Amino acid sequence: MTKLTGLMRTHHCGELTEANIGQEVTLCGWVNKYRNLGSLHFIDLRDKYGLTQLGFAEFKGDMALLKKCHLESVILAKGKVAPRPDEAKNDKMTTGMVEVQVEELQILSENDINNIPFLPFGAIEATDDNKLKYRYLDLRTEKLQNMLRLRSKTAQKVRNFLSNEDFIEVETPILYKSTPEGARDYVVPSRVHPHHVYALPQSPQTLKQLLMIGGTDRYFQICKCFRDEDLRADRQPEFTQIDIEVSFATQPFMKSLVEGLLKDVYQLDDDFTVPVMSYDDAMRDYGCDKPDVRFGLKQYVVNDIFEGTDFGVFASVLKENGLIKTFFVPKSAGTFSRKDTDSFVEVVKPHGGRGVAFFKVEEGARSAGISKFVTDEIHEKLNALSSETGDGTWLFFADANEEVAHACADALRRHLGSKLDLIEEGYKFLWVNDFPLLEYDDGRFYAKHHPFTMVRDEDVDAFMKADPKDPEGGLKKIYANAYDIVCNGYEIGGGSIRIFNQAVQKKMFEVLGMSEEEVNKQFGFFVEALNYGVPPHGGIAFGFDRMIMLLAGTENIRDVIAFPKTTSASDLMSSAPSVPSADQLEELHFMWSKKS
Ligand code: ASP
Repeated sequence: MTKLTGLMRTHHCGELTEANIGQEVTLCGWVNKYRNLGSLHFIDLRDKYGLTQLGFAEFKGDMALLKKCHLESVILAKGKVAPRPDEAKNDKMTTGMVEVQVEELQILSENDINNIPFLPFGAIEATDDNKLKYRYLDLRTEKLQNMLRLRSKTAQKVRNFLSNEDFIEVETPILYKSTPEGARDYVVPSRVHPHHVYALPQSPQTLKQLLMIGGTDRYFQICKCFRDEDLRADRQPEFTQIDIEVSFATQPFMKSLVEGLLKDVYQLDDDFTVPVMSYDDAMRDYGCDKPDVRFGLKQYVVNDIFEGTDFGVFASVLKENGLIKTFFVPKSAGTFSRKDTDSFVEVVKPHGGRGVAFFKVEEGARSAGISKFVTDEIHEKLNALSSETGDGTWLFFADANEEVAHACADALRRHLGSKLDLIEEGYKFLWVNDFPLLEYDDGRFYAKHHPFTMVRDEDVDAFMKADPKDPEGGLKKIYANAYDIVCNGYEIGGGSIRIFNQAVQKKMFEVLGMSEEEVNKQFGFFVEALNYGVPPHGGIAFGFDRMIMLLAGTENIRDVIAFPKTTSASDLMSSAPSVPSADQLEELHFMWSKKS
């Protein structure tokens, strides 16, 4: 590292050891602790590097200054490094053997101790809201400083890895046009073009594809994306992606690229590879497309087994072409009280579930829950599904329409995985692929990934021939050349091989119910570009914040963002969003401006 000069301090607060004894030093930092033992005064001075004890036995200055050294005031202390008295030595701290005997003291910035909303290091506790409103105070904590460092170091690793693989980082515009990724856009009204808006990119999807058409070959960017959607613990309205696009890429290439990058970021073994699971298998076995495979509780579809059942709930699910799934909790994993089983309804309710059917095997017999509807024949068939049968086993069921049954089975499985402490340490990755290209809802098709995703090779003919107006005309069975990378039950990235042929792209827009006029208006520039020589290409985007969450071992995305928003998308610190002034509104040509 270059030795830079010119700081107000000679050392930072985590640096001085016995090797420095006798040296004249200057330290700057926050007052972390102040001890007044009558004739003796000590301050623990803090910066992001650590703590150093300041002693005042030699201090010849105005002792009244010490009164201003409230916790969190910023001070400068000049003095000599001295050994601590034996009884004050602390070998757990880098600086624990020494102290600085202060000769000169300056208060650089006095903390208003009577009004500070909380003290990041104890004494005055913070509420959650205050931690966001006064984020700069919370940022002083080791936890958040470590997080910022982790983020920065990880970004650096990503940049190094990709640069070594010949990728170049290209910035793309923020004031742009709608880039559909399944969320609402954030829009910015234009002053210069009355009644026109820019849309903030939900991702740089069209731009990175245009970079490929522009001959860039390998692009990446660590960029902000904006999606106006309902927030959750692992979602923010603006978030960071590692966005990647590669010309002439195939899915196996993308997978090996992802493996290389994950190896560097998560410090994995050289022979690390990611297992592959198809979307259909993931849904069947785990009820979701981002299964947490750190634990078992694999699910089974048991419609056939309950055909003709006397249990009314299952019978009506079967009649309505719904789905019945089960999973086995063996004795070794745990057992359940009545209170437990009663509480499971609350786990499935948010997913549309009405209840959780179950039964238990005890001393060779079935008991509890729906046991009276489970005949020997049914039980035998259920047992044939799994090796985890036998005494003490519990079977839980999810039953509803297909979507709800999967969601409830997934929710209950995750709940039990953590409640029963079945989750193994470490990272478990999955490459989920073969997604359906489309979703059908409310009488129309939607792109499951985004409209630029290529159809799987073997499905192209059927796709091109399918009637977009006929929901049963085969489109539901078309699969995409798309993939997600999943870690510990989180989707940390997703991408696809792209459509690079204009006819296929036009068909895609048609299937999505867009008229030619709409396509031209929204994507004319892009569709035209497909005329002028396009390298086949593919890419992926990682959710950088989620990757950091996993590295940091936290479950809340706010913990890994320097200035996060609340779940209602507000910034408590700056009070954004805020009401614009009448002048701003007028300039932006809003009808309800001050003149109207
Ligand atoms: N643009 C996609 C997204 O942000 C990822 C990709 O297909 O590369 O989810």
